Amino acid sequence: CDKHAEPPTARLAGRPKAPRRTHASHKGSYGDVAVIGGAPGMAGAALLAGSAALHAGAGRVFVGLLDPSAAPVDTAQPELMLRDGHTLDLSDMTAVCGCGGGTAIRAALPRVLTTAAALVLDADALNAIAADSALQMQLVSRAQRGQPTVITPHPLEAARLLGYAASDVQADRLAAARQLATRFGVVAVLKGSGTVIAADGDASPVINLTGNAKLATAGTGDVLAGMIGAALAAKQSPFEAACEAVWRHGHVADTWPADAAPLTAGTLARQAPV
Ligand code: AMP
Ligand code: MG
Repeated sequence: CDKHAEPPTARLAGRPKAPRRTHASHKGSYGDVAVIGGAPGMAGAALLAGSAALHAGAGRVFVGLLDPSAAPVDTAQPELMLRDGHTLDLSDMTAVCGCGGGTAIRAALPRVLTTAAALVLDADALNAIAADSALQMQLVSRAQRGQPTVITPHPLEAARLLGYAASDVQADRLAAARQLATRFGVVAVLKGSGTVIAADGDASPVINLTGNAKLATAGTGDVLAGMIGAALAAKQSPFEAACEAVWRHGHVADTWPADAAPLTAGTLARQAPV
């Protein structure tokens, strides 16, 4: 045992202040979110992230689908502006990338990783980056250019990024989150029971205690990515955006009535507070 090793320290996530919309604000005040994902057969993940961003208060939400045969509008959510994910202009938008991206996300990533605005990387975007050292270098150079990035891996995605087994990630979640943040120059959100949020250069990650196994259902991770995207679009700092969205996401599950129908990701997205 190395007696000089830094002792592990962590803080607990606190309840965020209620979100506020000021009287004279307009949709531009809350920013634009672009979700890039939804490869053939996986449009739902991107639409869930878009719905969550919208309900979490983003001014406008574009969903760039990677399926060339995707419908031009989601009639259940006409507020979402559906576009081609390969050509959607990301200037001045907060991008949320990877939800249901499949292997099609690989081609979109070089463009997404150079976007100047804040970026959330989830799911298949993280898997593609884990498998490609050129993309890893592009991710690292975002931090060098001062372009903020939040990554939201579950333990298996984190393991792929770090080159470990998922059991090693789970054995020391604080260390794994810190390593992700440091290696890639990002805010790392290591999901699961007791989500850990770590920022590059900050030795003291946050552990979130809201949330429960009601969240263990398809699509809840996509909803979290959309919620973080909305907070970034409203100009919250990446660390604060991640901590607050993770807290609120878990709080919806904690306050979901025991006798109600199961909490689905679509319902969770619609509960994302404004
Ligand atoms: P994903 O693995 O990408 O589908 O994301 C699942 C989401 O649900 C993450 O935000 C997890 O932290 C959350 N989640 C899943 N299971 C639990 C659990 N048992 N307790 C707390 N949060 C959970
Ligand atoms: Mg996921």
